[in-house]
Amino acid sequence: MRKELIDSIIETAMGGEGIDREQALLVGTLDREELLYLFQGTDRIRDKFKGPDVKICSIVNAKSGKCPEDCGFCAQSSRFKTDSPEYGLLDVDKIVAAAKEAEAFGSNEFSIVTSGTAVDDRKELDVLKEAIRRIKAETSLEVCCSLGLMSLENLKELKAAGLDRFHHNLETAASHFDKIVTTHSYRDEMQAVRNAGEAGLKVCVGGIFGMGETYAQRVELAFDIRDMKTDSFPINFLKPLPGTALEHLDYLDYHEALRTISLLRLVLPAIDLFVCGGREEILGQGQDLLFAAGANGILGGNYLTTKGQDPKKDIEMIENLGLRPVFQSA
Ligand code: SF4
Repeated sequence: MRKELIDSIIETAMGGEGIDREQALLVGTLDREELLYLFQGTDRIRDKFKGPDVKICSIVNAKSGKCPEDCGFCAQSSRFKTDSPEYGLLDVDKIVAAAKEAEAFGSNEFSIVTSGTAVDDRKELDVLKEAIRRIKAETSLEVCCSLGLMSLENLKELKAAGLDRFHHNLETAASHFDKIVTTHSYRDEMQAVRNAGEAGLKVCVGGIFGMGETYAQRVELAFDIRDMKTDSFPINFLKPLPGTALEHLDYLDYHEALRTISLLRLVLPAIDLFVCGGREEILGQGQDLLFAAGANGILGGNYLTTKGQDPKKDIEMIENLGLRPVFQSA
């Protein structure tokens, strides 16, 4: 067991700046026993920077399917034959009702997610603005939107309506991107994130792991996101959905999923790290270790096109670990 090596990696991350690329690549060489030792350290780092609070984020899929893009993991692309639901943008009342339901079960952040390249239709923008205004007035939730490759002007309008945060996944490392998406580029994804920052929004940028990328490419994505200076990172693990281009892949291995969480905590010690899609399928009964590996948040309730674990079970799991689900917005 390379205890000294692991101790020095933990000590670097405890300093707050995060480990360097060489150390990040070494994390990829740790065996299972060494990983369990590493998690004792990542647990301390999470505790130092985030304390016992576990944030719970919820989403509503406010517009589903019929997307012209070809993201290989996504059941909402019109290029694939899937049984994912298809519907246009929900009305304001439905979006606000979903936010209130999320608040009632303990979420502190609520995200409105739409399918499609971007939302740029005037009527749809007005619906979103009104929904954001009402959620801010009628709940204490932080409001986030995930709307694709948005322009700076449209993001500024949403910010003026009360939007707190913009979420956008870079999906995967730049060097792996064209194996997953061909209808837009990694540069387009980066520009959407920059637009959100320029509009004055907090930015949440994440990725999907287990799409055939190498460990070194996970490191590459982690450092790209570190350079973007975002304040939260949703980690998704691929669910290989029937009909999508990636349906033939297997779920990521349990220990590799935990290694990925700890890599991100070590590179980005102070960030909010949420574990989202694939949590139940990959981590199953061993979900408690995701907090030791370094996560301090989860996506609760249902996902975009698949069901999630009962929110009561999530809260019970968090409390049984001596951690505290956060009920108020930060
Ligand atoms: S991830 Fe978004 S942009 Fe890509 S196919 Fe799915 S809905 Fe469309």
